[in-house]
Amino acid sequence: MPLYKANAIVLRSWDLGESDRIVSLYTMEFGKIRGVAKGVRRISTRFGSSTLPFTCIKVMFYGNERNELKTISQTEIVKSFQGIRESLEGILYGSVLLELTEHLINGTHRDERIFRLILKYLTWIEHETGGIILYSFCFKLLCMLGFRPSLSNCVVCRQVSPVIGNKVWFSREDGGIICPACLRERQEAISVPCEVIELTKRLISERVEGLQAYPVSARLMDEMKRFTLYFLGQYLAYPMKSIGLIEELLRDDNQPMEQAGGMIAVAA
Ligand SMILES: [Zn+2]
Repeated sequence: MPLYKANAIVLRSWDLGESDRIVSLYTMEFGKIRGVAKGVRRISTRFGSSTLPFTCIKVMFYGNERNELKTISQTEIVKSFQGIRESLEGILYGSVLLELTEHLINGTHRDERIFRLILKYLTWIEHETGGIILYSFCFKLLCMLGFRPSLSNCVVCRQVSPVIGNKVWFSREDGGIICPACLRERQEAISVPCEVIELTKRLISERVEGLQAYPVSARLMDEMKRFTLYFLGQYLAYPMKSIGLIEELLRDDNQPMEQAGGMIAVAA
């Protein structure tokens, strides 16, 4: 049976039987894979800790292409993201980020950019947290997966969509802004403030570092949350456990932001 080597990030792991653990990995070389690490809970070694979430590892595994579950034979920890594990906030934000990745990627979907994106944002969350980081990650990942929202003209007829009372219509089924003429019979569409559309454009096009000083009011963050959860609903096959966590985190986020004079409070 062929043996494979890969660079991987542990997205999720859960116990199997008395001593094994199933691990979901995003690898640079093969995309998302699942493997079983046998006997890993019987002895407390680095093999055990290398199969826990928030760990970047080098992994060796084997299994036929047809086998959905590979066998993990060897691991080596590259980075354990200790900064995330040491704070409750870091764990919460990191968990949402990993769960988003786990849920949004169907099949293997190999893309080296996604591997680097997860790594970059985990590194970022080690030092700073905030709703804007999650939104930034979420929309960048959606774009890499081919789910880029259409945020300029009407997604159906390509005409410039009129702004009505500082808002535009958005249809997640169509994947973008929609004009009133094309809106007919689309009951799932929602009305979205233009500033949410503008912020989303920035989240997609700008590096997360550049978003720190961008002024975002508590009200805008609230609208952003509503829009993100609505849009995500189109692509999540089943509800995310941590979606409630996002709600809680973002609600808490609003407090320091207002105190910080309307600037994004990214620092923990
Ligand atoms: Zn239209």
